[in-house]
Amino acid sequence: MPSSDHHVHIMGAGMAGLSAAVRCVEGGLRVSLYDSARQAGGRCRSFHDPMLDRIIDNGNHLLLGGNACVFDYLDTIGASRLVTAAPDHFPFIDLKSGENWSLRPGSAKLPLWLFLPGRRIPGTRISDYLVLKKLSSAQDQDALTDYIDPTSIIFERFWDPLCAAVLNTDAHEGSAKLIGRMLDMTLLKGPPFARPFITPLGLSATLVDPALAYLRQSQVHVEFGARVTSLSLRENRATHLDVGHKTIELSSMDHLILCLPPNQIQSLIPQVQVPTLTRPILNVHFGLDEEYRLPRNAAFIGVINGISQWIFRRGTTLSVTVSRADALMEKDTDELSDQIWQEVAFAIGRPNIPRPPHRLIKEKRATICQTPAQLALRPDSVTRWKNLYLAGDWTNTGLPATIEGAVKSGQVAAKNLLNSLT
Ligand SMILES: Cc1cc2nc3c(=O)[nH]c(=O)nc-3n(C[C@H](O)[C@H](O)[C@H](O)COP(=O)(O)OP(=O)(O)OC[C@H]3O[C@@H](n4cnc5c(N)ncnc54)[C@H](O)[C@@H]3O)c2cc1C
Repeated sequence: MPSSDHHVHIMGAGMAGLSAAVRCVEGGLRVSLYDSARQAGGRCRSFHDPMLDRIIDNGNHLLLGGNACVFDYLDTIGASRLVTAAPDHFPFIDLKSGENWSLRPGSAKLPLWLFLPGRRIPGTRISDYLVLKKLSSAQDQDALTDYIDPTSIIFERFWDPLCAAVLNTDAHEGSAKLIGRMLDMTLLKGPPFARPFITPLGLSATLVDPALAYLRQSQVHVEFGARVTSLSLRENRATHLDVGHKTIELSSMDHLILCLPPNQIQSLIPQVQVPTLTRPILNVHFGLDEEYRLPRNAAFIGVINGISQWIFRRGTTLSVTVSRADALMEKDTDELSDQIWQEVAFAIGRPNIPRPPHRLIKEKRATICQTPAQLALRPDSVTRWKNLYLAGDWTNTGLPATIEGAVKSGQVAAKNLLNSLT
């Protein structure tokens, strides 16, 4: 184990920064963690909304049983018990046809379940599913539409919602390789790995606060409202950086892991190539006075042929997610919330309930746009500066830009740093 004279400064306390900090603590390093915001969590956070008078998340987040890095992280910070397995199926409702069905994937090795019409997505054939395995060998430059007919029913009812949820990118341009990677780790590994997990207490209470408690217990210095404004690089080292009102000098025992969004890295280190396009996600939280059930009493349901893509139920809050929401960003928010509420009211079978109090959250840069061209711009964790590492869901993790990708990126950055010290 390296000596604790080595000090790592981690910038950005989103999921990547928190997971890097946890791994560096485990590796015996002295750790300081900074974030420009007033709280940790970045794009994965909760807050008290005064209008709804309840804690809400910035957006609904779903985990899957195959998110190995996340479960490892939760184990270390003592928070595994805070995530809950949802039933092992993905319910859907088609607002145009009124049909509802449930996708319950079975064994991928011996997929006999596909022979049962009731287990398949309505309107699809067994042959539509053969492509699932082909995506495992997709190449960097391949788009999903190189493998799947975009006019097919299975495209509309499976690939399009999957691509929106996993890549936050239109399925017509999304990366086949990333979808293949995600399927390998979940659906194709078997039912326990495809199982959805939710965070009933909220994102911060589950993924963020236990990590901060763990870090503080380990004497980590955590500082909020601390924005990195400049970074100096000389030859092969980072030498100092301006954070908030102070300058941090980096000695030979000091190391830096930058867990910042790509646009921040671009302005701090123009020499590093980063993805340049992002896509927004919109969430609307409706605060009701009583609990209403979703079809099949689900915790969440996928919506086809609506503005809404997913509806989540948490107690008396119903929340809608719309990914790759570029087209909605400039729309009148009141009108949009109204339209979305009508879809929710239909889904819960109560079309006459007037729109309850609501909060609409636009995350303009929710994730990078995950097309083959943009993915080619993802930088590695190791840089040409010996004491400087990068992390973030947008870096070259080989995974989609999700919590799993962010946590993995932090773990990889920490591992690379620790390896350099042995
Ligand atoms: C609405 C929404 C829904 C999502 N749904 C899912 C889902 O269902 N499942 C899933 O797995 N993933 C989902 N994601 C993606 C997931 O939230 C992200 O992949 C993950 O949170 C990214 O973490 P990160 O640490 O890489 O980046 P960030 O969370 O962006 O962390 C970067 C941190 O850096 C800080 N910062 C920025 N600039 C500076 C600066 N100059 N100096 C200091 N600090 C700075 C920020 O405040 C932030 O805390 C969703 C994202 C959104 C927005």
